[in-house]
Amino acid sequence: MTLAPKPGVLDIVPYVGGRAHVPGVAEAIKLSSNESALGPSPKAVAAYEAAARGIAIYPEGSAQLLREEIAKIYGLDASRIVCGNGSDELLSMLAHAYLRPGDEVLFTEHAFLVYRVATLANSAVPVVVPEKDLRADVDAMLKAVTPKTRLVYLANPNNPTGSYLPHDEVRRLHAGLSPDTLLVIDAAYAEYVRRNDYEAGIEMVSSFPNVVMTRTFSKIYALAGLRVGWAYCPAAVADVLNRVRGPFNVSVPAQITAVAALKDRAHFDASVAHNDKWRAWLIENIRKLGLRADDSVANFVLIHFADTRTAQAADAFLSGRGVILRGVANYALPHCLRLTVGTEDANRRVVTALAEFVKTKS
Ligand SMILES: *Cc1c(COP(=O)(O)O)cnc(C)c1O
Repeated sequence: MTLAPKPGVLDIVPYVGGRAHVPGVAEAIKLSSNESALGPSPKAVAAYEAAARGIAIYPEGSAQLLREEIAKIYGLDASRIVCGNGSDELLSMLAHAYLRPGDEVLFTEHAFLVYRVATLANSAVPVVVPEKDLRADVDAMLKAVTPKTRLVYLANPNNPTGSYLPHDEVRRLHAGLSPDTLLVIDAAYAEYVRRNDYEAGIEMVSSFPNVVMTRTFSKIYALAGLRVGWAYCPAAVADVLNRVRGPFNVSVPAQITAVAALKDRAHFDASVAHNDKWRAWLIENIRKLGLRADDSVANFVLIHFADTRTAQAADAFLSGRGVILRGVANYALPHCLRLTVGTEDANRRVVTALAEFVKTKS
């Protein structure tokens, strides 16, 4: 007998984050992981530094002060919030708590890779549903539902496509699921969305016992390196997560810093405004170069190239000029690159470099 992990584990392709460095380029700009252009609130950074004095002791395990602040800002019931070491941890924890071997988990063709990892890690079966025009297709998802469907992960908005489902479509998806299937709405980019027909999922969590919404401090709050996320859950699901989560899964500095970040609404508003302005600018200027850039409601833009080779050549060309985008071949989009909205300087550098690249091709 040899030591073997659970079935599925060795089918996992380890997740690789966006590159941060280019060999030979001293100061590359990282636009590969959707981190917020303006960085964290200076008040959050100050709180983090001050938190150093508290690291000798264990955190308060339920992240109570953080849950209360989240509840205040978003108008929620703090007892139904569960915090995690990034929302990735919560997405995995839900799989860990609810999946039995052989259960089916639905997600869409170009969905966030963590869903597949969490599914396979629990010996469950990924059911990958085709998208329509790079957007989740509710009809196709409902067609893929079987009695074995236990979890449905929906990134709304989705990464890396930047598309979203309007709330009536999300509700239609939920209406077609059995009460013993959990719909997990991953709303990591919710704060960036400015559409009247979008809803992050709070209303649905309040109305249904089988809907969970996850959120993160990694994107608009720019605390990706700290690892904090949260889930808003029906009471019974919160109870389950509180049984399976590590007793001290969110560190003292993470709790304190996230609270300070939440309180700085001016910085939050500035981050949203910056993104609105520069996302539109990027899309407009990339399209002027004759490239396809998709509409996006998040803080990134998907750029299409003629084929895989051209996308790889563009990636290498841009890297050489000190701007790092994200190749998305592992999202079944090998002819595309994903660009995170950056600072004004970074955005201008990207467009200039892309223009040079396009010229070398003509
Ligand atoms: C970035 C991202 C997250 C956030 O992950 P964290 O673990 O909270 O940093 C979740 N879902 C999607 C789709 C993302 O792109």
